[in-house]
Amino acid sequence: MATQAEVGVSDFVLLDNLTTDNFIENLHLRFQHNKIYTYIGEVLVSVNPYKTLDIYGQQHMAQYRGREMFEVPPHVYAVADACQRVLRQQGRDTCVLISGESGSGKTEASKFIMKYIAANTMQLHREYIDRVKNVLIQSNSILETFGNAKTNRNDNSSRFGKYMDIHFDYKGDPMGGHISNYLLEKSRVVSLQPGERNFHSFYQLLSTNNAHTKKFGLSSSASYKILGNERTTAQDSKLYSLTNSAFSALGFSSSVVDDIWSIVAGVILLGELTFAESADGHLSVGGPVKACVGALGVSQEALQAAMAGRILSAGGDLVSKEHSLSDAHYTRLALAKAAYDRLFTWIVQQINKAIESPQNSYRSSLIGVLDIYGFEIFDTNSFEQFCINYCNEKLQQLFIELVLKQEQEEYAREGIQWTPVQYFNNRVICELVDAPHQGIIAIMDEACLNPTKISDTQLLEAMDKRLSAHKHYTSRQLSPTDKKLKHGVDFRVTHYAGDVTYAITGFMDKNKDSLWQDLKRLLHASRNASLAAMWPEGGAHIQKTSKRPPSAATLFRNSMSALVAGLTSKEPFYVRCVKPNPMQTSAHWDDQLVRHQVAYLGLVENVRVRRAGFASRQRYDRFLKRYKMLSQYTWPNFRGASDKDAVMVLLRDLQLTDVQFGHTKLFIRSARTVHSLEASRAEL
Ligand code: ADP
Ligand code: MG
Repeated sequence: MATQAEVGVSDFVLLDNLTTDNFIENLHLRFQHNKIYTYIGEVLVSVNPYKTLDIYGQQHMAQYRGREMFEVPPHVYAVADACQRVLRQQGRDTCVLISGESGSGKTEASKFIMKYIAANTMQLHREYIDRVKNVLIQSNSILETFGNAKTNRNDNSSRFGKYMDIHFDYKGDPMGGHISNYLLEKSRVVSLQPGERNFHSFYQLLSTNNAHTKKFGLSSSASYKILGNERTTAQDSKLYSLTNSAFSALGFSSSVVDDIWSIVAGVILLGELTFAESADGHLSVGGPVKACVGALGVSQEALQAAMAGRILSAGGDLVSKEHSLSDAHYTRLALAKAAYDRLFTWIVQQINKAIESPQNSYRSSLIGVLDIYGFEIFDTNSFEQFCINYCNEKLQQLFIELVLKQEQEEYAREGIQWTPVQYFNNRVICELVDAPHQGIIAIMDEACLNPTKISDTQLLEAMDKRLSAHKHYTSRQLSPTDKKLKHGVDFRVTHYAGDVTYAITGFMDKNKDSLWQDLKRLLHASRNASLAAMWPEGGAHIQKTSKRPPSAATLFRNSMSALVAGLTSKEPFYVRCVKPNPMQTSAHWDDQLVRHQVAYLGLVENVRVRRAGFASRQRYDRFLKRYKMLSQYTWPNFRGASDKDAVMVLLRDLQLTDVQFGHTKLFIRSARTVHSLEASRAEL
């Protein structure tokens, strides 16, 4: 219990000499001793151990129940417990924001938090609560099947952002929940980096010879383009059964589950279709066409027609336009991506129906858990990385505002004076991306709305022209000597986490994210009832000119501002995840990699802010309980008016003066004082 027995310091505010080197040394020391958690005040820093640690069982949970964070060794359970306490004692909504790069342990942390919250409930309505708990946990495995993939950074990487609210009744028991999903990386459906896999669902479906594969002529031993060079494994077939039992636990009917796997099969088969152009220029579709239309529940004629051309409405007349070979190819891939993306979102909606709080229940408060993609810098960065990194800018902004705000509020509440710490505010980068009319998203949208077709290069030129003065934007055109940027292709954004070079190729297309009306009609007409329901807009009259939907970047920006607005109203807790090495092993510590993460997560600055005023703050009653044996005046009992008086007497006796007395808490300025208190305690 005593910090003396700990390896390193369990709270970075207690570091004697705060430098990045010392920070990393402490983190490393603790990692070597399997102490993967360390605090910065109430922020939890977590290092991925890449091995199973025996620290998550029932008895470990019990250790954290109802305890203040600093009283027990740092743990993700302590964060979960603090959340639940705020909720129960103050009736306030809370949220846990989990950040870190891919493979740093965000999703695992979110699962531990859910597990703790689910386990730590009252005995009343046991049966009902067990159902809710089960449902919350099962929903994870479905999301992972359809939204996770093996990447070069993480064997089980979430390729979508997830925010989950868990609703509680007035007694603090979970009643239900709601999941929001953000931007699935749908380009993965049709193109893979070397060494990476597609979404797990494809391999799971193909890993066994089951009713679905038989029905559509798929085989576990054949290879399919969509799978890349990767094969299915025994693990996939195990997970296939788990996914199916999760579906049934969530109340998905067997016909809906059938529909879902048929769509997955349909997407795999779309990947196998080929096109041929006859001498007279007509396109025909080849490959496993019969199986493909069977899986998608559409007619062969309809599929053929939708691939070979499209129908345009021109001044009230319907005109058909034939596709070129490359149009057809593009259309097939667009269809595969769109079908899978919509399937994923639809599954999330169905899960939400299953975990919805009962209509008549009174929802008193909620805990939100945000597990969202970390900052991404790849060799080639595209539109997806642009969105993901923007998301991280927004969350960093929130972190800055909330951490500062919280500190300031606490000092104000307690009647304490302090001087704010200066540090980089990334608002300027958020604005580079999202400012109305001026920002990158606005410029992209303008280009997409232009009636004449604008190329990616023209978009880049427009950006160069409008953003040349911005300190965080560079392109080769603007800096001709910058050999790291390819002329006419690359632009660079100086993110708070570092420079990222984006290749403009594909930005226009991905931002428009349009799908021919013909494809929507095709899917809406499917005999697969679920697939048809996923595409209601395909039912619109053929001549109805629908309003152009908002661009992908605008939708994303809107969902980010809604997310941030929701989070701002809650009491936040932070888990900052760090990845020890890129090899996914427990045996290695990569100092450079860790240093980079510590820098961009702003961890050292975080400690500095936390210490700007005071290294430590503790409620008077807690402080007294822990240290009253250090003075004859307070041991065994103090006879006086209040705990605050007792603490004043105790500190006078110990001749400790670098403190301030708040209304309910004692603020201790230097870490040394806390050390010495702990040391005296240990000596007794
Ligand atoms: P992220 O969501 O940040 O991309 P994950 O949470 O998926 O990363 O973690 C990647 C992998 O690291 C997990 O599949 C697991 O093997 C391992 N891992 C992460 N956190 C822990 C932990 N606390 N204990 C044991 N292994 C972990
Ligand atoms: Mg994840």
